[in-house]
Amino acid sequence: MASGHRSILIAGAGATGLTAALELARRGHVPRIVDSDAGPVPLAESRALGINARTLALLSPSRVTDAILQEAQRIAHFRIVSGNRLLADVDTTTVPGPYSAMQVLAQGHTERLLLGKLSDFEVAPEWQTVVETVSHDPSKPRVTLRRADGSVETADFDIVIGADGAHSTVRKAVGIDFPGQALESSFYLADFRYAEPIGTGSVEINLFDPGMIGCLPVTRDVLRYISTLPDFESRIRHPARVAERVWASDFRIHFRRASEMARGNVFLAGDAAHIHSPAGARGMNLGIEDACWLGWLISEGREREYAALRMPAVQTVLKQTHQLTSLIAMKNPMAIAVRNLAVPFLLRIPAFRQKLLHGVSGYDTQSPPWIAGAL
Ligand SMILES: Cc1cc2nc3c(=O)[nH]c(=O)nc-3n(C[C@H](O)[C@H](O)[C@H](O)COP(=O)(O)OP(=O)(O)OC[C@H]3O[C@@H](n4cnc5c(N)ncnc54)[C@H](O)[C@@H]3O)c2cc1C
Repeated sequence: MASGHRSILIAGAGATGLTAALELARRGHVPRIVDSDAGPVPLAESRALGINARTLALLSPSRVTDAILQEAQRIAHFRIVSGNRLLADVDTTTVPGPYSAMQVLAQGHTERLLLGKLSDFEVAPEWQTVVETVSHDPSKPRVTLRRADGSVETADFDIVIGADGAHSTVRKAVGIDFPGQALESSFYLADFRYAEPIGTGSVEINLFDPGMIGCLPVTRDVLRYISTLPDFESRIRHPARVAERVWASDFRIHFRRASEMARGNVFLAGDAAHIHSPAGARGMNLGIEDACWLGWLISEGREREYAALRMPAVQTVLKQTHQLTSLIAMKNPMAIAVRNLAVPFLLRIPAFRQKLLHGVSGYDTQSPPWIAGAL
């Protein structure tokens, strides 16, 4: 059977599932995509903000990148501050290629842009439709779906893509383990809207002894603060009058990856396959990358290569985010003092700075061979 006529079910219409659907649809496939929620994530509750250069390259054939660049804020500087001392100021626009290292756009906006492009191919998620079971025979997976009205459908698919997030039903149903560890400490975040537009061109990490507060733009008048300190809100120096506290949340960080990214014709992508700390803003970007590779490989009839091609990228990103998180979550006063001396020194070395920017841009994973000139 031609790959274009294979029946494909995508579980989950987050950024990963929507990208998989779009990459398949633009190549002539007609995937079904289902999601247990009623719609995309609310605009005010967006987890992922950072969109890296690799993702912009990957989403350029579908023209989602053009739409992102119109709405997103470009990050030109990445600063590290300790007390009143500027430890480092990295110019993020110096990366090679057509895109700067990082843009910021709320995840809910990105998902709506993906949905808009998907509708051009007359593919739309079936909302409030839960994947309840996937048969243990992954060669011709049988899936049970339950809708909000209680109706149940059981159907066989040639390919099932589990893009159903960290608690993936698909992963558990086919018996793939999700080993890893949870960090002891929690992270806290709050988004504040200001009474007037504020500067949006930089990400700033303020180091304390111990702890940190990171600050990055969400929109022209909203800033996100993310911290390891429960009382961080009392330490924020707001740049203008606060109009409202838009959203706040706290979470524990896990570093986990699926023991296999595919079993038979069931494939895992995004948070269903790997989770890690938001340090470095890699999670959604890595999921979008998985989805683009999977879309291409399925169209080429080479999906058997997916797991072997993606696992090195996942390992690279887990290692990098773990190192970054260890740096910002340090508690030992001696280690903190060494870090505060070493970071500015290292960031003055051009090769080190370039390596850091390379990672922030997402260029430390394999380049997509289907995009001419991609880095
Ligand atoms: C505070 C924070 C900040 C972050 N910042 C960044 C950042 O700046 N950049 C970045 O790249 N990443 C960031 N991330 C990570 C990013 O949010 C996730 O990696 C990303 O949302 C993963 O997308 P996904 O589509 O794989 O999974 P999800 O977004 O979790 O989507 C999964 C979808 O599957 C659906 N679903 C679940 N179970 C079922 C089922 N049984 N049947 C049908 N549907 C189902 C859900 O409703 C959901 O819509 C951050 C995360 C956090 C917590």
